Amino acid sequence: MQDLNTPTLFRQQCYVAGAWCDADQGAVIEVTNPATHETLGSVPRMGAAETRRAIEAANDAWPQWRAMPARERAAILRRWHGLMHRHADDLARIMTLEQGKPLAEARGEVAYAAAYFEWFAEEAKRAYGDTIPSPSPNTRIVVLKEPVGVCAAITPWNFPAAMITRKAAAALAAGCPIMVKPASQTPFSALALAVLAEEAGVPPGVFSVVTGSASEIGGEMTGNPLVRKLSFTGSTEVGRTLMQQTASTIKKVSMELGGNAPFIVFDDADLDAAVQGAIASKYRNTGQTCVCANRLYVHENVYDAFAQKLVEAVRGLRVGNGLEEGVSIGPLIDEPAVRKVQEHIDDALEQGAEVLTGGRVHALGGTFFEPTVLANMTPAMRVAKEETFGPVAPLFRFSSDAEVIDMANDTEFGLAAYFYSRDLGRVWRVAEALEYGMVGINTGIVSNEAAPFGGVKQSGVGREGSRYGLDDYMVIKYLCMGL
Ligand code: ADP
Repeated sequence: MQDLNTPTLFRQQCYVAGAWCDADQGAVIEVTNPATHETLGSVPRMGAAETRRAIEAANDAWPQWRAMPARERAAILRRWHGLMHRHADDLARIMTLEQGKPLAEARGEVAYAAAYFEWFAEEAKRAYGDTIPSPSPNTRIVVLKEPVGVCAAITPWNFPAAMITRKAAAALAAGCPIMVKPASQTPFSALALAVLAEEAGVPPGVFSVVTGSASEIGGEMTGNPLVRKLSFTGSTEVGRTLMQQTASTIKKVSMELGGNAPFIVFDDADLDAAVQGAIASKYRNTGQTCVCANRLYVHENVYDAFAQKLVEAVRGLRVGNGLEEGVSIGPLIDEPAVRKVQEHIDDALEQGAEVLTGGRVHALGGTFFEPTVLANMTPAMRVAKEETFGPVAPLFRFSSDAEVIDMANDTEFGLAAYFYSRDLGRVWRVAEALEYGMVGINTGIVSNEAAPFGGVKQSGVGREGSRYGLDDYMVIKYLCMGL
């Protein structure tokens, strides 16, 4: 890989059972740079057999890992955290090359991803149980929290490092081994993390990375009874399939699925702050995050003023190769992503929407797309119902709190929602009425390692990060002690 200070971080092999290896038949998948369409390298195209070996290695490693005192597991996680910071520049560069996000955002993700190791290193020591007053004079009740066992994770391309660390850090802290199948578009960040895991002293089998066929690897991960827990981040469609597949062996699951975030601007909002929040929430990662604002609802009294300020801010965003200084909007991940964005725009225009800025593939070509603002949106348009996953801000007008809450909740998704208001009573009323797992109030950014990330409705089950995140990798055992 070009210009890495530590080329050893760039690996084109998988890390299974503490060893670097190829696919059994030697097959590979090529990985391309979405900004230039150049080939970056290749990774093994593994399937069920290799995945089974990773699962068996994890199962063999489990007894020792769970028996290790939490403070020793924590020390390893802290070393991994330190190594990520030491290699932050190279990790960010690998990420930008394979994913396309601007280098500054990639650096931000590396720090965010590393923070999960620090957080869960601390939480590892606090997996407290409970004692419960017994209803009987002759028994005592004690509750222990124990690691669930071998875990498997399937992760997406939009956050190539953080979606792995927030699963792996929690699993390892809880005393579980975990194997990861990263998205085939962004495997190099995952493999770089494995290099650092090895250096940090994670024992063989406790953390593995398997790249290759999603259906074959996913099939083995979901069907193998040795795997006790599956954690998935990705689309609701694939999440549904994986939940069905895990049903045969009744696995514990965490599902971080799609969103369709409303972003509401009330007429008492600080409009400049709301514009800033909308830019951060909507255009980060070129609109390719599951918590990106997907529908912007603006009160009729401030609609025109907000639209004008937003358009001005959006025109200031620079599109380009994420490695270039000053770029804030990288390419979309691939051609299907461009098609979906264009279809959503075309559908809106056919139904009477107006383009305030952008609206087309960028002059740079490829998968670069103009940051777009659409006005005169209606609930019948596709954008209102589906996740666009691109740099398109559609503006809807509303006139009352009740109306906007109904529109905001009118979706099968329930991940993140945002609103701007300075009226304390309204803040509480709206926050409680929104059917979402996370609500940003006067802010466009909600994710951090200390807070519980997750959704309701068809956006998923489980929480990642925070003290709740550890529970997702633990099971409760109750001891009934007769006297
Ligand atoms: P996105 O729309 O973000 O690409 P996907 O749900 O398609 O999300 O992909 C997220 C992850 O799930 C990727 O690692 C992908 O390879 C994996 N994946 C896709 N289809 C399947 C499947 N049938 N079984 C297991 N994993 C899958």
